[in-house]
Amino acid sequence: MSDDDSPAFGRGAPPLGEMDPDVFRETGHRLVEWIGNYLESSDRHPVLSRNRPGEVRQALPPAAPDTGEGFDQILEDVDRIILPGVTHWNHPGFFAYFAITGSGPGILADFLSAALNAQGMLWRTSPALTELEEVVLDWLRQLLGLAPVEGVIYDTASISTLHALAAARQRVAPDSRSAGLAGRPSLGPFRVYCSQHAHSSVDKALIMLGLGHDNLKRVDTDQSHRMRLDALQAAVNEDRASEMTPMAVVATVGTTAMTSVDPVPAIAELCEREGLWLHVDAAYAGAAAMVPGFEETLAGCDRATSLVVNPHKWLFTPFDLSVLYCRDMDMLRTAFSLTPDYLKNREAGSVRNLMDTGVQLGRRFRALKLWMVLRHFGASGLRTRLADHIRLARLFGSWVDASAQFERLAPIPFSVVCFRAVPEPGETDEAVDELNAELLDAVNRSGKVFLSHTTIGDRYTLRLAVGHIRTTDTHVRLAWDVLRRELARLRSGK
Ligand code: PLP
Repeated sequence: MSDDDSPAFGRGAPPLGEMDPDVFRETGHRLVEWIGNYLESSDRHPVLSRNRPGEVRQALPPAAPDTGEGFDQILEDVDRIILPGVTHWNHPGFFAYFAITGSGPGILADFLSAALNAQGMLWRTSPALTELEEVVLDWLRQLLGLAPVEGVIYDTASISTLHALAAARQRVAPDSRSAGLAGRPSLGPFRVYCSQHAHSSVDKALIMLGLGHDNLKRVDTDQSHRMRLDALQAAVNEDRASEMTPMAVVATVGTTAMTSVDPVPAIAELCEREGLWLHVDAAYAGAAAMVPGFEETLAGCDRATSLVVNPHKWLFTPFDLSVLYCRDMDMLRTAFSLTPDYLKNREAGSVRNLMDTGVQLGRRFRALKLWMVLRHFGASGLRTRLADHIRLARLFGSWVDASAQFERLAPIPFSVVCFRAVPEPGETDEAVDELNAELLDAVNRSGKVFLSHTTIGDRYTLRLAVGHIRTTDTHVRLAWDVLRRELARLRSGK
């Protein structure tokens, strides 16, 4: 039967096969041009999207087109519908949360990764994916000043932490993999300790691992927002006395709210003494360890069992790429390796199969973007850029300190400043909180900059995080000007 006789491939049906290679090249060039222009002038857009809920959905047809469309039309809709609905994380005025950033080499690497479409479940399904990951994680390890340790790339820190705690669970309850934890009162409860300021990904890990959210003990912090060692020891002692099983401690280097650093060397000592798994969450601040003068950032982390660092947070690597270093990767493999018959292979035992190191079977070629970022900027290029972010945060902090209208609410260990508009005489705590919340809204409505907030000691706190690769003095100055202008407007009641 010829193609023409086939009902599925009848006359008028679109041709089969890939996009025409020439159309691909032509469109690809245009898209690269588009991306180049976007990156050069992303500050033309309001940082925080001004869309109302449902706007993008309503602008799009309810079903996919029946016949294919040309890229002219598709790109036009990107400009018209998608772009206004994007909050521009790649805008140099993005100062919210942890201001992450893409970069040219990382973007190109992701483009290439999509083209290769490599899937690294097994070494043989792309030897380069597995081996480049090993090489690039060893490069990063050296830059961070860490002793040799095996690493693995996941998508996010939440998943890195989940895997670390899964390995810790495997260590304390070796048969939990086969028998589970439910209905076994002789086991556990297994307790995990972190500070009041640890990230919610720790909570989620306990929930997911069936350890029970109630078994996360949030330990008090000191005046510098660091986990209190005496409180940690007391919590462990109390749990042992109550027949609970201490399992792991999660220490944070660079907490989400105010980037405080837990005393990792002392916590490591406690964990060694108590036989606990120590996981360090350095998702944001870990990268600082490569900056001259900040080499102590990861002090004590060589004694941790596992450590997460996110190059997608503060190392110019486009989202997503999180690195878990683990001194007991075999425990992680014991927790997760499982090879169905169709994936058995002759190399087993002599190579690393990434599917053994976690829940995911398939893996993207993420190492490519970290590799290209490290190669393109080089160690000194990365150090200088990170150091500049720290300088900019301190510069902003110095303006806050010198101002009568604002006050700083926490030290600036890295590139985040916590501050607020000061109360006027007689103003209640609630009124000051409300004023600062209104100020934040007004500043973000400007479209020029985007800041976020946190809570420190019950006080509503504004937070400026420097992390974008193209952020300069001009953008930080602009944030300061907008803040002062909007505060003056709010105070004058206009
Ligand atoms: N750890 C810390 C300290 C964080 O601040 C965050 C997010 O900001 C995370 C973990 C979670 O990061 P991810 O989005 O990569 O899961």
